[in-house]
Amino acid sequence: MFDPGWIDAHCHLSEERISENLEKEISEASQLGITDFISSALCKEEYECIKLAKFQKFNKFIKWCAGIHPNYEKSSEKDFDNLTKLCDEQKIIAIGEIGLDGRKDNSEWQKKILLKQLDLAKNYDLPVIFHTVKRYYVLYKILKQNFPKVRGFLHSFNASLEITELFSRYDLAFSLNAKIPNTKVLEFIMKRGFFFFETDAPYQKPENSKADFNHLKNLLWVIDKVSEKTSINKDVLKKKQFENFQMLFG
Ligand SMILES: [Zn+2]
Repeated sequence: MFDPGWIDAHCHLSEERISENLEKEISEASQLGITDFISSALCKEEYECIKLAKFQKFNKFIKWCAGIHPNYEKSSEKDFDNLTKLCDEQKIIAIGEIGLDGRKDNSEWQKKILLKQLDLAKNYDLPVIFHTVKRYYVLYKILKQNFPKVRGFLHSFNASLEITELFSRYDLAFSLNAKIPNTKVLEFIMKRGFFFFETDAPYQKPENSKADFNHLKNLLWVIDKVSEKTSINKDVLKKKQFENFQMLFG
């Protein structure tokens, strides 16, 4: 019987802590059955990694998304043309992570660059991977007014039940990492069925981890926790995340 692997729906392979140890990181993850990675490139320098032999070697496992992040110091609007080029060359499977981040006081710029990238995703018919901190209601309105048909997922999702229900009106999945939502939200997400798992490595270490940064192998930590909290068998979770992946990117 066909046994799909685990998919890390969101990680940063071109971030130096991971990229310097790429072979080791990928091999440790593969040993646990993790077979696919959606890596997020967020600036020109990271976009260029997509074409490097070092990453091309793992072509079979790595898929890329790219975007201009609302709160990443290396992200710049100047990279928009390079981002468009990646779409033209079909080097990416999604635009992201993009979105709104309430920790930074530049909301007008964030909104402008988000709209520009949502347009780009629409023009190239690509899914969108959202990063949102404290700005879910603003994002909800922007999508409602301009892009109600958007598809993709909300990465690192951890918000209230009300927000979860609201975003369920869109064709958007919820992607879970070590910052797992509360039980009510988790149950809602599982019942709805459109979800992914991610590490966001090297960010979002599991609680109590003493490591310097988050590793790709920790995807299984997230899945174990979700399985434990929901009493859903890991094989069921595996099948579902794979079907969701096929549905969105297949
Ligand atoms: Zn990320």
